[in-house]
Amino acid sequence: MGRVAVLTTGGTVAMRYDPEAGGPIPLLSPEELTASLPPGAPELALEAICNLPSSHFTVETLWRIRERAAAWAADPGVDGVVITHGTDTLEETAYLLDLTVPGETPIVVTGAMRSASDPGYDGPANLWASIRVAASPQARGLGALVVLNDEIHAARFVTKMDTLSTATFQSPGWGPLGRVEGDQVYIPWRLEREVIPCRRLEERVALIKLGVGMPPDPLEDALRRGVRGVVLEGLGGGRIPPWWLPTIERAVAEGVIVVVASRCPGGRVWDAYGYRGAHRTLRELGCLFSPHLNGQKARVRLMVVLGSADSPEEVARLWKRRAATE
Ligand code: ASP
Repeated sequence: MGRVAVLTTGGTVAMRYDPEAGGPIPLLSPEELTASLPPGAPELALEAICNLPSSHFTVETLWRIRERAAAWAADPGVDGVVITHGTDTLEETAYLLDLTVPGETPIVVTGAMRSASDPGYDGPANLWASIRVAASPQARGLGALVVLNDEIHAARFVTKMDTLSTATFQSPGWGPLGRVEGDQVYIPWRLEREVIPCRRLEERVALIKLGVGMPPDPLEDALRRGVRGVVLEGLGGGRIPPWWLPTIERAVAEGVIVVVASRCPGGRVWDAYGYRGAHRTLRELGCLFSPHLNGQKARVRLMVVLGSADSPEEVARLWKRRAATE
């Protein structure tokens, strides 16, 4: 086995019970996190990027993780990169890395659902599986992967499905790309990768989830605050109530990019309906679509695209580049 960089950022995987806080908080150093790995582990290069619950991450934190992961991935002396991370926002970081870090070096994001003070702490098993995937030749060229519970998921499709289960990461409708099985890293599928050369993340992107009968107030508020983009998590296949359409029209006229995703965890944003607020109307209004990315990942993609493009045409081109598969 070669050399793997392990970058730590906090999360439950780095947490231990703290009597003063009255619960687990991020306390473990990279050395403590990796102390219990079995013999035969590759040589590790350790770096602590931060030690936070992932709900405390800012967009700046996200970008810092991206920059450090990209730097390690470009190091010819490193076979793979593992990032330990809180599970709450893990899928967003993994997707950002997948979309923006070039090259063949595997990047594996992992975490744990139980802290080091809990019986059945899943941190060491997830970390060990992730290091093995990161060091494996099969993982090269697949972009960012999420490894927990011995499953290997594509960053593009994976999502946190359960607030408590150790099997929380799933790829609804697609399934895992592979598995860690005993002494084998088994990845039967290949994915075509897409990388957007990204200079920065545009922070002024809102994510709005729709509910039945909801007025368009959150979109009005977002426009008042000067957002540059907004992702609407629409109903079913991306349907938006007709009384939202004038606000959407105004947003598009003001140059705000409006992306329609779905609030459903699986399936594609598309339909053939003829009624107002369905796909056809939204397309005619100038909305972009997120066929398969969930709302939180569509927001990351829009932050990347708006941070990379210099014109509205470029935004649409970058957004749609792989619209068919995302
Ligand atoms: N609260 C944790 C976080 O930092 C949850 C976890 O890691 O599982 O996201």
